[in-house]
Amino acid sequence: TFHPEAAERAAVIDPAAIRHNVRTIASYVQPAKVLVAVKAEGYGHGAVTAARAALEAGADWLGTAHVSEALVLRRAGIQAPILAWLHTRGTDFAAALGEHIDLGISGWEIHHVARAAESLQKPARVHLKIDTGLGRNGCTIEEWPELLRLAAQYQERGLLSVEGIFTHLAVADEPDRRETDEQLAVYRRALELAEEHRIVPDLRHVANTPGAFSRPDAHFDMVRVGVGVYGHSPFADRTAEDLGLRPAMELRTTVANVKRVPTGQGISYGLTHRVDRPTSLALIPMGYADGIPRVAVHAPVWIQGRRYQSVGRVAMDQFVVDLGEEETDVQVGDEVVIFGGDSGIEAADWGSAAGTINYEIITRIGERVPRIVQ
Ligand code: PLP
Repeated sequence: TFHPEAAERAAVIDPAAIRHNVRTIASYVQPAKVLVAVKAEGYGHGAVTAARAALEAGADWLGTAHVSEALVLRRAGIQAPILAWLHTRGTDFAAALGEHIDLGISGWEIHHVARAAESLQKPARVHLKIDTGLGRNGCTIEEWPELLRLAAQYQERGLLSVEGIFTHLAVADEPDRRETDEQLAVYRRALELAEEHRIVPDLRHVANTPGAFSRPDAHFDMVRVGVGVYGHSPFADRTAEDLGLRPAMELRTTVANVKRVPTGQGISYGLTHRVDRPTSLALIPMGYADGIPRVAVHAPVWIQGRRYQSVGRVAMDQFVVDLGEEETDVQVGDEVVIFGGDSGIEAADWGSAAGTINYEIITRIGERVPRIVQ
């Protein structure tokens, strides 16, 4: 059932912005292919919405962390190649094979995937993942020869086909750091060792959004991009606009209350803020249950074309904005933009106010906030 009030607390998603961003990145990295990361509900935009827009704009691949996320895309009728790269013991590898989902392999999974392939009588398409320095998922360079040996064996038995070799960068958002060079050197060594095992995959892929923009030497055959596709910059010193990207989410609501308060009025739980002059306050009906970080203070908010700042702690469902000492014309029902749209406010501004990054802001917008596709 549709509640009219839902439209007054919404994340408005712009597929045209996603298409624009995919084309921008593709032209930047061509001839490399583009895998668009649609994990975590398409970075909060809706996985299927994001996937469809990305494919319309020519994305070659989709990427998810979990097989379950990839299966959601298949159930929505999406036939494009998908790679899922983060597995647990309960991962349904057979379902992944049945739905022609490629699997990232860091180590232990290889036996489970081969077993699923044997029972389905269908070779699994895998991408071997080497940890070149991030220290997270992926096989270390020390364990790499053993993983290659297993992969070559299973490949000979017709249970696997190695389609890709990939790694993930740790500091590509800081282009001057030498650790990226070190990661690329380890990656090249891993490719040489693979060749010695006669494993020469079509898809070598390394770069995320920062790598796509700052490290042409990391483009290889494909880039895996997320945050840039949604119109956000991964760099501290370059905005989305600098990169030619358009934010695809506008988080908007309406003013739920306005009131005048005297000097000394405390604001929200803990009374961590007290106003130092008589002022007007606007109540914004979104809180930490909607993904507005509780710790954000003095975060920017756009109301009817003007910028104001939040004061006091964000609560579960609401937070307060100081409208200033002068008489205000802000009224209940006025349009509020928290970030995106024409507001000039970026998710990164909320990230700064909350000691975090734009990635976390957009991916944590709560389920209670309807996504409205423009
Ligand atoms: N590749 C892998 C393995 C990832 O985990 C991610 C996301 O964290 C990406 C690519 C996309 O990264 P970004 O959003 O920085 O482009």
